[in-house]
Amino acid sequence: MAMKKRAYLIIISIFIIMASLTGCGKNEPERKETESIDKALVRDSTVNVLSLDENKDGMVFQCQMKEHYNVISDKPGICPLCKMDLEEIDVQQAAKNFDAKYHGKPEEDQKE
Ligand SMILES: [Zn+2]
Repeated sequence: MAMKKRAYLIIISIFIIMASLTGCGKNEPERKETESIDKALVRDSTVNVLSLDENKDGMVFQCQMKEHYNVISDKPGICPLCKMDLEEIDVQQAAKNFDAKYHGKPEEDQKE
């Protein structure tokens, strides 16, 4: 009889330990959320860059990498592709960059 009670206590304590261990793993649910927000910054070729300037201050934030000129936000942020800070840039310039990426028109002087 006493044996049975002890076994029962051991099972209970194992259960409690397991429960507290799995509880610890729940500490980072925020990561997923920021990832999905970031992904939204990657624009496809049909987007109107000028319309991305939601607060109409003439400035947007764009990734500095030529390959990521389609990463544009009206707010400061981080490029989801290369994790660099987005650079504040004139929306007209951002549109030019965006165009150059998608249509390959080297409208800016690329003499270096
Ligand atoms: Zn980037």
